[in-house]
Amino acid sequence: MYEGPVQDLIDELGRLPGVGPKSAQRIAFHLLAADPADVGRLQDALGRVKEGVVFCEICGNVSEQTQCRICRDLRRDATVVCVVEEPKDVLAVERTREFKGRYHVLGGALDPLAGIGPDQLRIRELMARIGAQDITEIILATDPNTEGEATATYLVRMLRDFPGLTVTRLASGLPMGGDLEFADELTLGRALSGRRTV
Ligand SMILES: [Zn+2]
Repeated sequence: MYEGPVQDLIDELGRLPGVGPKSAQRIAFHLLAADPADVGRLQDALGRVKEGVVFCEICGNVSEQTQCRICRDLRRDATVVCVVEEPKDVLAVERTREFKGRYHVLGGALDPLAGIGPDQLRIRELMARIGAQDITEIILATDPNTEGEATATYLVRMLRDFPGLTVTRLASGLPMGGDLEFADELTLGRALSGRRTV
């Protein structure tokens, strides 16, 4: 245990996802030693993120306006919607440059043990979108792990009743148990172009 502000910083950093106690300590001491200008920029970014960033009213992606850049882009195919868990997965799919459609961000995956059921995810919004817009294909691009698979299975069941809607799933080949964002562009791009109807 350190004293005062240093320990406070380590504690706060340690609450971030994926940051263990050792990393929290390393980051804290890195910041202590860093150039004040660098720390200032981080401080500004942290300050702005809660004020300036909203979630897109259509797809749920992080956005600076009520509708995100991708939803506003008329060149993108609005009939194909790629369903992902988190905003970071949008970035992962975008990096492949394979996809020219739109997205729907669920805000997580089904995880009953953690109290996350269908109502905690943006599933109702997805159904409403399919009902209101001319969408012909839904690509399920949830993470290749237990929760992601359960979420995809649930969605397949929910989407079965929409006439004229094709539901596809990323081709296998993604590292199982992982996160979509950890797949390299080539693998994810292949999984996307090789997607199969479910
Ligand atoms: Zn959007």
